[in-house]
Amino acid sequence: MTETVDWRLPTPPGFRWPDGIRAAACFTFDVDAESPILFEYPETAAWLGVMSHQAYGARTGIARLLRVLDRRRIRATFFIPGYSAERWPAICRAIRDAGHEIAHHGYLHEGAHGAIPAVEEERLLRGLASLDEVLGVHPTGYRGPNWELTFETPAILARHGFVYDSGLMDADHPYVLATSAEPGAATLVELPGHWSLDDWDVALERLIERAQAIDGLWIATAAEIAAHVATLDLEPVVHRRPILPD
Ligand SMILES: [Zn+2]
Repeated sequence: MTETVDWRLPTPPGFRWPDGIRAAACFTFDVDAESPILFEYPETAAWLGVMSHQAYGARTGIARLLRVLDRRRIRATFFIPGYSAERWPAICRAIRDAGHEIAHHGYLHEGAHGAIPAVEEERLLRGLASLDEVLGVHPTGYRGPNWELTFETPAILARHGFVYDSGLMDADHPYVLATSAEPGAATLVELPGHWSLDDWDVALERLIERAQAIDGLWIATAAEIAAHVATLDLEPVVHRRPILPD
């Protein structure tokens, strides 16, 4: 059968938001702290200036964020590398205790490119163990460090009970992601993100104010949006690995 696309449809076939909702906004924060730079450049562990630069979020920025979110009465999603939870347990517990969702973001913020599946899985488990030990949380969501996923990552996530991934960039709407092309393969909900929506330094409170003024905009955590999408009868999207031409 030849595949066809109906480009007139404003949303993918079968997709809909909850009644009365026409879009969703999900405020997400990655608690990277020192982990990305320690993974890429371990020698920086001895460099106080660099470490202080990386510590700003955990030591100072997150508390400010929590105050803004509290003022605006918004629950957000924080993607936390296991190493960040171990190094900054108090502020990570404060995130949890403020009612925000905690999701997985690697152990030492390891980019997946070049890693064999066994290594990817080992890092995933190490991150899970840290979030459990420090926060007593078993996350249902994942965002790949550096937004890096391999074609094997979704199956590894499904195997360990994850409900959603938020790191692919090929859609405007959430979709159901097939973990392989095999019929009946396990699925995840994909909540796509994009670099262009990733702000290091954003005028957050003004942005939230604007979002809250929009009629029919659902401000929710990633897990809440994923739970809604999982109830829809959507055809899973199969990602086929490109075959390089000779
Ligand atoms: Zn990150």
